[in-house]
Amino acid sequence: MARQPAATTQPSPANRIQRLISQFSSLRVDAFLVSHPPNIRYLSGFSGSAGFLLIEPARATLFTDSRYTFQAREETVGIRVHIAKTGLLAAVAAALKSRSGRRRVACSDTHLTVAQKRALEALAGKRVRWVADANAVEKLRAIKVPSELSIIREAAELISQVFRDATKLIRPGMSELDVAAEIEYAIKRRGSSGASFETIVASGARSAWAHARPTSKLLKRNELVVLDHGAILRGYCSDMTRTVSLGKASSRVRKLYKAVLDAQQAGKAAIRPGALAGDVDKAARRVLRQAGLARYFTHSTGHGLGIEVHEMPRLGKGDGTILQEGMVLTVEPGVYIEGLGGIRIEDDVVVTASGAQDLTTATRDLLEL
Ligand code: ZN
Ligand code: ZN
Repeated sequence: MARQPAATTQPSPANRIQRLISQFSSLRVDAFLVSHPPNIRYLSGFSGSAGFLLIEPARATLFTDSRYTFQAREETVGIRVHIAKTGLLAAVAAALKSRSGRRRVACSDTHLTVAQKRALEALAGKRVRWVADANAVEKLRAIKVPSELSIIREAAELISQVFRDATKLIRPGMSELDVAAEIEYAIKRRGSSGASFETIVASGARSAWAHARPTSKLLKRNELVVLDHGAILRGYCSDMTRTVSLGKASSRVRKLYKAVLDAQQAGKAAIRPGALAGDVDKAARRVLRQAGLARYFTHSTGHGLGIEVHEMPRLGKGDGTILQEGMVLTVEPGVYIEGLGGIRIEDDVVVTASGAQDLTTATRDLLEL
């Protein structure tokens, strides 16, 4: 009887390896060494933190160590598991050396360290020619299949619910760390394996720091609070930001909030199959420019989302990536004004034939708590 992947792993990666192998001729390689754990997970199902996956047309081999013997066998199907006794790189190199003839092997120039690359070159010998992998696995990962989408949709709903819960308990006198702890507790209580990144809770003037870590600072009345949080569900991430006002927002804050929300709307409206990633950024930025706020929007408009919280494509200025159905993106314009604070609104969306469809569902109205 064929073994079934464990219910806790991501959707079956059965034909993902075949799709990668079908690119070998255009990549002009004979084999592909996968070193980045999220890429290994995507292709094999293995979720351990140490391993290399060697893909050859006739076989796929996962090299890992004895800590992962049982996990590797449980999580993978149709993949040889090699438990290395004297170092992973030595085992990979020995396998390559044992094959006859010269070979071109793809590896990542982003994820392998210089030391690892040098060790591979030395150990595998001159018959192996190492070539850059052109992010081939990251490109496959960018397009999600329905089973992946349904998990991300659940992860997005989970974080939307966590935000709704948080709005009921946030009040002046709590510290940013208190709020972050409540959020991360709620994330786990709702069935997530954990936060997809360190929760951001930034209040008052600190909310102008786009990526502030929570501190012991206490929340005060009439401050803005930026909450940026995400959850991992069955290996997939969500990522959502909301900005709330403690007490009644000033008319200036309301105006700024509306401009950011309009920019986000414009960004979402620019999303469709065939559009360029840079077009989405341009559409959001244009709205903020027309409101005289361009200089306060200091980061890109969004990013891909999946096994990693930041993955391809990047919705940055001038990015030429063509958007395709099945991509999951964040759209998250913001303005950051020294002294006053920051406002960011971030949703996760999926690219469909008819445009962007929201996955995160929490209200985008300015909440005054
Ligand atoms: Zn975020
Ligand atoms: Zn984000």
